[in-house]
Amino acid sequence: MMPQHSTTPSTYRDTISLVDQSGDRNWVYPKKPSGKLYQGRTWFSWLLMVLLFAGPFLKLNGHPLLLLNVLERKFIIFGIPFWPQDLPLFALLMLTFVVFIIVFTVVFGRVWCGWACPQTIFMEMLFRKIEYWIEGDFKAQQKLDQSGWTNEKIIKKGSKHLLFFLLSVFIANTFLSYLIGVDELKKMVLEGPLLHLGKFSALIIFSTVFYFVFARFREIVCIVVCPYGRLQGLMLDKNSIVVAYDFIRGEPRGFRKKGATEQLGDCIDCKRCVHVCPTGIDIRNGTQLECINCTACIDECDDVMVKLNKPKGLVRYASQAEIATGKSNIFTPRSIAYFCILIGLLTVLTGLLITRKELAATILRTPGMTYQTQLDGSISNMYNYEVVNKTFNTQSIEVKLVSPEGAKLSMVDRGTSPLTLKEDGLIKGSFFISIPPESIKLNNTPVIIEINSNGKVVKLVNTNFVGPVKIK
Ligand code: SF4
Ligand code: SF4
Repeated sequence: MMPQHSTTPSTYRDTISLVDQSGDRNWVYPKKPSGKLYQGRTWFSWLLMVLLFAGPFLKLNGHPLLLLNVLERKFIIFGIPFWPQDLPLFALLMLTFVVFIIVFTVVFGRVWCGWACPQTIFMEMLFRKIEYWIEGDFKAQQKLDQSGWTNEKIIKKGSKHLLFFLLSVFIANTFLSYLIGVDELKKMVLEGPLLHLGKFSALIIFSTVFYFVFARFREIVCIVVCPYGRLQGLMLDKNSIVVAYDFIRGEPRGFRKKGATEQLGDCIDCKRCVHVCPTGIDIRNGTQLECINCTACIDECDDVMVKLNKPKGLVRYASQAEIATGKSNIFTPRSIAYFCILIGLLTVLTGLLITRKELAATILRTPGMTYQTQLDGSISNMYNYEVVNKTFNTQSIEVKLVSPEGAKLSMVDRGTSPLTLKEDGLIKGSFFISIPPESIKLNNTPVIIEINSNGKVVKLVNTNFVGPVKIK
């Protein structure tokens, strides 16, 4: 995006805020934010954190409300279990979520980053607050970092990093409990890490990663690592609502000297919006990849405007088009097209969820075999079956033959039906279908098999039976 107005320095895009002229990390010391939006974000973040930390303990019928067990490919979303057999449905769910994020971003910019992203919430509402509490506001932090290693500095830095690490361990435990379930985590704590070395190693790795992310990497995650952040250039356009500086009203910027006759805009170039920015940018340069829409600069500038007796909103939520022309339009062909795609995906997803079967069953004639002649003269075919229980209930399974008439079904190795299929369970095996030779009228006789669960028909399988046709 080009600079928005003539007084915007055109060199600001030559470097990123993270790096100084010599190529070293430009450590950002943001001023402690305050204001109405910051208060709103604080309350909202507490609500999200309560939900996040309580999430692993929330259960429905004894099972977690949310479980994302990537290793075992087992997912529970709002109490609905998804097994590996549901991969297409799960993939569609993820695709719908991604399209929802795109629609939301095209219209409302990076609201997610500023208000709901765990990285922003943990960084700004937990770790940064601990830092302000121990080291003071941005100027005190700068002074402390530039000073020598006195006892005071050792105590402050030591206690800050100790708290950071403890908090990281706590977050890592929560993260792990979403992956393996809180019961597994409890088991590891009660039985000791030596019996659960894999999970314990994961916990140590997660804790260390979180510690480095919040103690050192910080805004680098948003600017360099986060794929969503890097896709902003594709998703945002001039009609997207973002945190924006009203350059029409603010420019030409400058400090008003007493008695000066020069006509200036409302921006007094106090740079308070720059000092408060956690990614170290100047919002007056226009929408930038680094801006996480945290709204801290809106609060800061509003405070300046109030003191100057000017209307708030020099920096505000607005689209670039609205600032340039005074008109806003969120219903653009692009946003409408994305919205239609989202509605289409939601419709398909809802249909698939409603018609989703509790059992997944496949029956196939055993590969590489044709037919056998049994001792009693009947002709048999062998079939393989596989039944997956997608519910949290134990199922009693019966495999029954519906047609052709006179045929017989006998299970191999499993004795007589019904079979017990535990929750999250899978059974597989084989059975024979035998038909008296005089009943075989076709080379491929259609066969219908019924799978019953707890006395109810859950699936009808159509297959065929190969056998010799008796020539009269
Ligand atoms: S806080 Fe407002 S007045 Fe001060 S520099 Fe930023 S935009 Fe200008
Ligand atoms: S420019 Fe403003 S909204 Fe964007 S990250 Fe900086 S302070 Fe937050």
